[in-house]
Amino acid sequence: PQLVNQIAAGEVVERPSSVVKELVENCFDAGASQVSVEIEQGGARLIKIRDNGCGIDKDDLPLALSRHATSKIQSLQDLEQVATMGFRGEALPSISSVSRLSLISRVADADCAWRVQADGSEQELDPQPDPHPLGTTIEVCDLFYNTPARRKFLKAEKTEFTHIDTLFKRMALSRFDIAFELKHNQREVFNFKKAVTPAEQEQRVAHIFGAAFLENSVAIDFNASGMHLYGWVSLPTFSRSQQDMQYFYVNGRLIKDRLVTHAIKQAYQDVLYHGRHPVYVLYLVLDPGLVDVNAHPQKLEVRFREGRSVHDFLYKALHRCLADVRP
Ligand code: ADP
Ligand code: MG
Repeated sequence: PQLVNQIAAGEVVERPSSVVKELVENCFDAGASQVSVEIEQGGARLIKIRDNGCGIDKDDLPLALSRHATSKIQSLQDLEQVATMGFRGEALPSISSVSRLSLISRVADADCAWRVQADGSEQELDPQPDPHPLGTTIEVCDLFYNTPARRKFLKAEKTEFTHIDTLFKRMALSRFDIAFELKHNQREVFNFKKAVTPAEQEQRVAHIFGAAFLENSVAIDFNASGMHLYGWVSLPTFSRSQQDMQYFYVNGRLIKDRLVTHAIKQAYQDVLYHGRHPVYVLYLVLDPGLVDVNAHPQKLEVRFREGRSVHDFLYKALHRCLADVRP
C-alpha cells in the first residue's frame, strides 16, 4: 500500500505548496476559525499546520492516514453535492508516504489529544497521548526524503516559499471568517485577524493587493436568479494589470474558467471601453449542485452545469455595477 500511496502522491503532492493546500483545506473542512502555517526552508524541512477545528477522534486517527478513508462523503449522492474542500481521502496517506508526518488531534469531549506518526515506510498508528488543545496539528518533515528523484526537483527555498506565499494569500482571501497566520523560518509573514465587518475585509484585501487597488476599484454586490456575486474589480485608473491578480471564487473555491474570464472582460469593455483585463477578487455563491468540482483533481477548474446562465449572470452583474460608476 505504501507504493500505491507514493504513486498517488505524485498527483496530489507536486511540491511543498501542494501539501499546504491540502492541509489548510482540511482545516476549513474541520470548521476551524484559526489556522496557522509554519514553514521552514521553503517547506522542504518543515510544514506545520495547526487549527482549532473539530479535531479527529482517537479511534479515527489511524484511519485518517489510510487510503480513501474520507469522513466527508458517504454516498454517490454526496459526491453530487460536495460542500467540503476534500472528498477523496487521498491527501494524508499520500503526504505521509513521502515524508515524516505526525498528526496530533483533540476533539471537544476528550480528556487529552492523541498523536500518530507515519514515516514513509514505518507507521506508529497506535495513538499516544499528547497535551495539544482542541483541534489538530500536522507536521510534515523532510518532504520527499525517501523519493530522492523528487526531492532533487524541489526548487530553491525562495521559489518554493513564493509558491506557498501566493497560495496562502489566495486562501486568506477565500475565508474572511478565519484568522490566518504564516511564518517562514520563524519569522512572521502574515497575521490576519478574523475579518467580520466590510471594513475589516477591505483591510485584508488591501494588505494583499495593496491599498491602491481598493482606491481604484468598484465594490460589486449583485443578486439574481439564485446567484450572488460580490467583491472588487479594478477601474482603468488602477495601472497594475497582472494576470495573477484575478481571483475568482466559486463557493469559496478559487477557480480559473474561460467562461468567467470572458464574461468579466466583456462587461468591462462594454461599459468602460477598456481593453485590458481588470484586476479583481470576486466571489460567486450558487447552489453547489450546479457546480461539478470533481472534474479535475488538483486543478483550478470546475464545470458549471449551466455555463450559459452563469456567464449571463456575471455579465449582467458587472455591467450593472460598473455602469453605476462610469465617469
Ligand atoms: P479528505 O479531505 O479528502 O477527506 P484527507 O486525506 O485530506 O482526505 O483527510 C482524511 C481525513 O482526515 C478527513 O476526511 C478528515 O476526517 C480527517 N482530517 C484531516 N485533517 C483534519 C483536520 N485538520 N481536522 C479534522 N479532521 C481532519
Ligand atoms: Mg483533504
